[in-house]
Amino acid sequence: MSRTYIAIELRRLVAQRANFRCEYCLIFARDRLSGCHVDHIISLKHGGETTPENLAYACMFCNLNKGTDLGSIIWRTGELIRFFNPRRDQWKEHFNFEGAIIQTLTDIGEVTARIFQFNDPERILERQILMEANRYP
Ligand SMILES: [Zn+2]
Repeated sequence: MSRTYIAIELRRLVAQRANFRCEYCLIFARDRLSGCHVDHIISLKHGGETTPENLAYACMFCNLNKGTDLGSIIWRTGELIRFFNPRRDQWKEHFNFEGAIIQTLTDIGEVTARIFQFNDPERILERQILMEANRYP
């Protein structure tokens, strides 16, 4: 999340590279009224740069829930774990689907799904509707 200026060409590159879908929850920008935004994976606050390697395409829900955070705590182990990084991680190694629910396979998946609120009831319902229409995932 950032208020910094990102050149239109860079925004286009990020959107096209992501195939116009949120790189975290996989919803297509066209299926969100608010579309998707260009997100700093490592926020500016923490020294992240406005470069293709540090940018991701994210829907409003993922973007706002992430904020400037970099990760969270796994309370059962007390460990600080970073979020899923679309530039270095493979989605299927950290998440999978049980119907419209996004299950997590790793600690990285777990903190990301929890803080980004992947399985908020309204988002599950939204995915169910999109799945029935063959628009997701
Ligand atoms: Zn998303």
